[in-house]
Amino acid sequence: MSADEGTPSSPSKPVETPPVHVLKPKPAPVAVPPFADAKGRHVAAPDFGGVAIADTHAHLDMLDEPGFALANSARAGVAFVATVADPSEDAARTYTDLERWLTEADALLAKDALADVAEQVPAPRVRIIVGVHPHNAKEFSAEVEEAMRLMIADPRTSAIGEIGLDYFYDHSPRDVQRAAFEAQLRLAHEFELPVVIHLREAHDDGLRILRAVGVPSAGCILHCYNLGPALLERFVEIGCTVSFAGPVSFKKSTDVREAAALVPAGRVLTETDCPFMAPEPFRGRTNEPAFTVFTAAAIAEARGESLPEFAAAAWEAALALLDRERS
Ligand SMILES: [Zn+2]
Ligand SMILES: [Zn+2]
Repeated sequence: MSADEGTPSSPSKPVETPPVHVLKPKPAPVAVPPFADAKGRHVAAPDFGGVAIADTHAHLDMLDEPGFALANSARAGVAFVATVADPSEDAARTYTDLERWLTEADALLAKDALADVAEQVPAPRVRIIVGVHPHNAKEFSAEVEEAMRLMIADPRTSAIGEIGLDYFYDHSPRDVQRAAFEAQLRLAHEFELPVVIHLREAHDDGLRILRAVGVPSAGCILHCYNLGPALLERFVEIGCTVSFAGPVSFKKSTDVREAAALVPAGRVLTETDCPFMAPEPFRGRTNEPAFTVFTAAAIAEARGESLPEFAAAAWEAALALLDRERS
């Protein structure tokens, strides 16, 4: 619109018809940010002073409506999402459907803007973490590795994971888990990508293998850390970045908060691991990337940092590790 169009018209000019959009039915209200507790009561979002948040570990393919979740993510200020895809399951779906999920998210965000609910924000930047989960280690084969190599070649792939050991569930024999972990750790070295590690009741073996094969120079993320400070120090010493999910916000997780306070600045990440383990005050509900803001607030508080200060460091650490195309 030019400046002239804003000047009052003379009485002789015909009266302009009102803009068409006022005649349209009122659009359904959209909550921004979309937070309400189990009883439907509004929950105030933490204020990060405009600093963006990153969800460094999501399983978008496990959500009912990934496009809707990505729109919510953008509304909440979670502007970067790294989603996990397992080539022994249906990782191919993430690669084929991601563009559609993002288009759906953009369309929903455009609707918000049309309804004057919010200024239009873009859908989050999404990157893919590819790897065979320790549960599926018995499925790791030459064919799966071949498929994985093709996925790694996709520029949206930014890390190898989640790989590691899970001796709690033992869904695959432990020696098979160790072999798949080692092989994929070597792939990370070969492609100069960071690794995202899942360890459950297997930290000694995990550490031993990381030391033997070497921590990839592109980085190593210990994801969903939910234990105390003692164990954490051993991973920090070998150069791991530590990512915290919902458990850091749980009332009884004092030890996890103590651990979060000890990680050196710039080496803490925020994640959801959605759809699992929603943070307080949404514990027990389906988790989604938007909820990362509550986890981020809990970590900042545990570390005694201001929300914007912590968010800026966590954002920088996330993108430095997981945004492969970043120049
Ligand atoms: Zn995991
Ligand atoms: Zn996960």
